[in-house]
Amino acid sequence: MSISNPAPSATKYLSVDGNVANLIRERGYVISGGHFDIGGGFHSESWVYKDPMLADPQVLKELCRPMAFKLRSMEFEHEMERIDAFAGRANGGLVIASQLSVHARTRTECYFAEETHLGLKFRPSFSEALKGKRVVVAGVVITTGRTIREVADEVRRQGGEVVGAVAWFRRTLTGPGDLGNVPFVLTLNRDCLQTWAEQTCPLCEQGTPLSNEHGIHLPDRFC
Ligand SMILES: [Zn+2]
Repeated sequence: MSISNPAPSATKYLSVDGNVANLIRERGYVISGGHFDIGGGFHSESWVYKDPMLADPQVLKELCRPMAFKLRSMEFEHEMERIDAFAGRANGGLVIASQLSVHARTRTECYFAEETHLGLKFRPSFSEALKGKRVVVAGVVITTGRTIREVADEVRRQGGEVVGAVAWFRRTLTGPGDLGNVPFVLTLNRDCLQTWAEQTCPLCEQGTPLSNEHGIHLPDRFC
């Protein structure tokens, strides 16, 4: 089935500024002031420990609940119509999608796409399930926007309507096309985590060595 991508439109960038930054920094899940190779040709002064965050039930709850409440208020105030389902990439986006569905206003389903040699795809068992559904795509960190875009494309390919996207963090000022022209993107904070393309990284220019060779610097408790 072909994808009917909507025409490029003004994606709305929304946030739920709150106290979550303190919680995740206190627990050491996001550290700043380094020089990290985060992959995909990007460098950053901050590192996000996604996996331990996704495994921490309190962090999951504290981070997802305000996002779910924001979505509920958008439904309630008719800023958007109902949400039928959340969809995310297995595993990170799936965990967030699942948590959001727990706090949703009405019964909301949860689907996941998996990495295949053809890109992100839903399992065949989901093939009819998304048809006609209004879906919010969930992710953990947006850097290039590829994951959100591919999941959004897959939802549309299955006959669903993508009504928005959520992610905990945004690293770069990705444009609407990079994100698959989703109507809105909801993140935890308005500001992006400081990130640069490797070629324009000011830390490289200053000669600051990478925090370690592979950009991975797990504190002992995560090793
Ligand atoms: Zn650099």
